[in-house]
Amino acid sequence: MNLVLFGPPGAGKGTQAKVLQETRGLPQLSTGDMLRAAIAAKSELGRKVEAILAKGDLVSDDIVIGIIDQRLNQPDAARGAVFDGFPRTIPQAEALDKLLEGRGKKIDLVIELKVDETVLLSRAEQRVRETVSKGGIPRPDDTPQTVKNRLDVYRKNTAPLVAFYKAQGKVVSVDGMAPIADVTRAIAAALDRK
Ligand code: ADP
Repeated sequence: MNLVLFGPPGAGKGTQAKVLQETRGLPQLSTGDMLRAAIAAKSELGRKVEAILAKGDLVSDDIVIGIIDQRLNQPDAARGAVFDGFPRTIPQAEALDKLLEGRGKKIDLVIELKVDETVLLSRAEQRVRETVSKGGIPRPDDTPQTVKNRLDVYRKNTAPLVAFYKAQGKVVSVDGMAPIADVTRAIAAALDRK
């Protein structure tokens, strides 16, 4: 089962991807996490993308498609995966279809987490508070100004993917404003119907 978790920044994709990783054994493939790991490791890739992430702009399609291509070769992705934060553009979605097709697979389901945009800013603020209270360092792109840019980028580049996947008949919409456990249940139900 290959599943895309789709929705704006702060919709809860990462939270639900982690649940699916635990309950279904499907690895969470988060390009955001992979890029942040590259930055933390100070690799060449990390140096290349650091300023882009800090602004909330999109890293080039070639870079993220290459990362996903490599990641799909790892054995844990053989049974399927949860794509979190990828694809984010139509060319990325087209490339993902090809990458999976080459491996005899396809995207089975796209879960669209629907959220009221007005809460996204406060969710980012909450994430900063929670991280700080646990002694961690908040994401540099969770500042109000960068969250606004990430939302603009989402509307312009990523939101059109819903129509792309609807045309393939793969989209199930879930209310991302509901409590976390309810969202988890709605996603589980959609998966079990597949
Ligand atoms: P969120 O979904 O909360 O915005 P992510 O962790 O998915 O956060 O992504 C953080 C940042 O990493 C994005 O703002 C962007 O700069 C970069 N990024 C992540 N995934 C992609 C992608 N598929 N294409 C381009 N840039 C990406």
